[in-house]
Amino acid sequence: MNNQYPDWRRLSTTDLLAHRASVFAALPRTPQGLRGSVVFKHTRCGKTSCHCARGGPGHPHHYLSSTVQGRTHLDHIPADWTDWVQAQIDLYRQWQRAVVTITEINRELFRRRIRDGTDVKQEDDRQ
Ligand SMILES: [Zn+2]
Repeated sequence: MNNQYPDWRRLSTTDLLAHRASVFAALPRTPQGLRGSVVFKHTRCGKTSCHCARGGPGHPHHYLSSTVQGRTHLDHIPADWTDWVQAQIDLYRQWQRAVVTITEINRELFRRRIRDGTDVKQEDDRQ
C-alpha cells in the first residue's frame, strides 16, 4: 500500500461511509476515458526517399500506449488530439483512484462487520 490513501482503520465507520459517499458522488459522470499513457517517440516512415531513411531521429509522434492482456499497444495520436487523449486518460485515472478508494473502504467495513458480527447485507441495505 502506498501513502496516497489514509489508514482507513483510524476513521470511524460514520466517517468511512461519508468519505465513500463523497468519492462516489465525485465520480466523472461520463462513459468516456482511455486507459494508458501518452508517449513520445521518433519513428521512421519507411519511405526510402525520406530524410529519416538516411539516419537521424525520425519523425516525432505522440502515441497512446496501453497494455491489453499483457501486450503493449501503441496507437498514433494525431498532432492536435494529444490534449484530448490526455484528458481521456485523466478521466480513467479518476475512475481508477475512486474504485481503489471505495473498495478499500468497503474492505475496512467488511472487516468491522466480521469483527462485530454485523449482518453485511442488512448494513448494505441501509446505504
Ligand atoms: Zn520519414
